[in-house]
Amino acid sequence: MSINQNAKIDVPCPQCGKDVQQPLGRLKGKVDVTCPNCRTSFAIDATQLQKGLAEQERAIERMLKGLGKK
Ligand SMILES: [Zn+2]
Repeated sequence: MSINQNAKIDVPCPQCGKDVQQPLGRLKGKVDVTCPNCRTSFAIDATQLQKGLAEQERAIERMLKGLGKK
């Protein structure tokens, strides 16, 4: 399973908590994001996000394997 680079992920704004959508393909290293809701700009660390995504993928794979056993 590979990560779809066109997929979008939601990054929560640290100021207002609103999710800001970012395309995965853009997330390399540190990325500056401006929240469309409160205009706060913040930096996100893509390596942290990708770590989280890899963990999500593993969780999905485990779930799919569990389904296959039935
Ligand atoms: Zn915000």
